[in-house]
Amino acid sequence: MLTYFMKTVDLTNCTYPIVETFHSVQGEGAWTGVSAFFIRLGGCDVYCPWCDQKESWNAKRHPHQSVDTLAQAAKMANPAIVIITGGEPLMHDLDPLTTELKKLGLQVHLETSGSHPFSGNFDWVTFSPKPYKKPHDSIYNYVNELKVVVANEEDLHMAEVQAAKLSLTVIKYLQPEWNTPNSKELIFDFVLKHPQWRISLQTHKFLNVR
Ligand code: SF4
Repeated sequence: MLTYFMKTVDLTNCTYPIVETFHSVQGEGAWTGVSAFFIRLGGCDVYCPWCDQKESWNAKRHPHQSVDTLAQAAKMANPAIVIITGGEPLMHDLDPLTTELKKLGLQVHLETSGSHPFSGNFDWVTFSPKPYKKPHDSIYNYVNELKVVVANEEDLHMAEVQAAKLSLTVIKYLQPEWNTPNSKELIFDFVLKHPQWRISLQTHKFLNVR
């Protein structure tokens, strides 16, 4: 009689290119002000001209850390939430990382442009589409909040196009591009005329923290 052996794959040995991990507060959107452990993954092919994380674009520049190391660091920080961000995190398969974080009882959030196929198991998904790379269709069923960074009128148009693809229960934010002088006025006027939208500000930048 033949005996078959099942080989179990140890996901904790998976690694990701890591730009940085740090403990701060969530600065933006519905979870503003909440204690958060950030895991910033390397790699992005969206190339927004105003990006404040350009050093993250080339994944090869960033050393890898294992799922186990990342999950233990997150647990030790004792945050209310863990935020996986980037770069564009969906360039990587996020199943192993989110599985391990959840095994440790952590609440896991994602910040993504949605430009790559969805993966991972999240408690909250922030979808921040960009005009420079079309979102992948797989994102739309997972979104909890839509957050559009606004630098000009075209971004407001894109915000409405993307909002129309989402459930009415999704919270909709417009966020001024930090270095664009008239972006705050643009979204202020827009929200007064379109009450389904809210304003998100980058609180961490006002606090001068990461
Ligand atoms: S998607 Fe995010 S990380 Fe990528 S270029 Fe745009 S702002 Fe930067």
